[in-house]
Amino acid sequence: MGEMLHAARGRMHRAAEHVNVDTELVTRLDYPAETLAASVPLRRDDGSLLALKAWRCRYDSTLGPTKGGIRFHQSVNADEVQTLAFLMTMKCSLMGLPFGGAKGGVQVDANDLTLMEKERLARQWVRRFARIIGPDRDIPAPDVATGEQEMAWMTDQYNDLLGSICPAAFTGKPASLGGIPQRTPATGHGALIALQAVRGELGVGDGPLTIALQGFGNAGAWFATRAAEAGHHIVAVSDSAGMVRRDDGLDVDALRAAKRAGGSVTDTKQDGVERGDRNDILSARCDILALAALGGVVTRKNASDVRCKAILEIANGPVAPDADDTLRSAGVEVVPDILANGGGVTISHAEWAQNRAGLPWDSTHVDLYLKQQIEKAASKILDMMNEKKIDMRTAAYGVALVRLCDAISARGTHADFDPNRAGAKR
Ligand code: NAD
Repeated sequence: MGEMLHAARGRMHRAAEHVNVDTELVTRLDYPAETLAASVPLRRDDGSLLALKAWRCRYDSTLGPTKGGIRFHQSVNADEVQTLAFLMTMKCSLMGLPFGGAKGGVQVDANDLTLMEKERLARQWVRRFARIIGPDRDIPAPDVATGEQEMAWMTDQYNDLLGSICPAAFTGKPASLGGIPQRTPATGHGALIALQAVRGELGVGDGPLTIALQGFGNAGAWFATRAAEAGHHIVAVSDSAGMVRRDDGLDVDALRAAKRAGGSVTDTKQDGVERGDRNDILSARCDILALAALGGVVTRKNASDVRCKAILEIANGPVAPDADDTLRSAGVEVVPDILANGGGVTISHAEWAQNRAGLPWDSTHVDLYLKQQIEKAASKILDMMNEKKIDMRTAAYGVALVRLCDAISARGTHADFDPNRAGAKR
């Protein structure tokens, strides 16, 4: 087992000490049900051939078919994919969804690929992993450097292999292929709903908040847009190229325009903007430090540098487990990823349900569902925090564990750990 998964599941065991669950059931969640590793060949436009490393982990399917994104990034590895699949298992349980957790990825720098190469890679990924995915088994979605377009190619390739049309095998598709338009903004929008639902625990008062944001991709940019619309001030934003700061608030639309035109928020032309190194964002003075880039950015080494009152984890795992104690003793509450970014998978569930039923959800229904699921999960977390006097992350894992362990126990002592896998053998 990798170090990252080992550290991540330590948080689950910490939560288990505070809730009434059987330790034997919790240990069944220590390891993934299955991880498929594959070499994915990619023919480049210049004729050369790359052999890329790729993985799909289906961590646990007790609550339903497994669900999780696919990322294209140079740092993807088996340990990271399994850790992210573990997080998805906890998230789907916390959010009350009928899904288990999964994750997939390809070790590749997506910025180095042309559009045609990305399409070939998306299709090749499906050819390699089709045997473990499907609407009743494992349903991929977008993640870092993948989006609607990749999901469209993947769905098309899956349909080709299947010889029939199966839109529910992927979520995050364009609306024209059965997707839900609010899926793309859902993660950022959901993060704001989560922040508002738990802000009473964060020591930030009632007024507009000052927010520093790391990462201005899909999740980060939508969070910034929704937060600015709600009257909060985005005082600093970073992406992989650098950081911009303006104490009375940045114009989010101008940041989006700069990103579209020049590829980075640092290209923005607003008056009074200071520029800095991308890592300066972590020590920006603000109420909320919103982390929407990659995992493991706040660690034991830099946790004492943060100058915020609370952290909002929009990315998966941006606060490494070894930073927990430092932040806790500094009184910095963390709104955990499994709540803060749960909006994406919630609307993915709506998309899957819409595709399965063949009946569209109207946009009011979608918005209401997002708000209800996040507020319900937040309220369970707040109840547990107050009852057990524990931090927000431990309470979130506690809520997730209770639901999961109830289901593991209901299936009985002799149940196969993964019914989908058993089906595959027949
Ligand atoms: P994305 O690829 O659209 O955006 C990533 C952003 O992070 C980019 O702006 C990039 O420039 C920036 N970045 C990369 N390295 C950086 C660094 N060192 N410093 C500052 N910025 C840096 O990805 P996304 O879909 O927005 O996902 C971001 C995070 O949110 C990931 O952890 C992902 O797993 C998580 N997440 C995304 C969704 C979703 O629906 N997109 C759902 C749940 C969780």
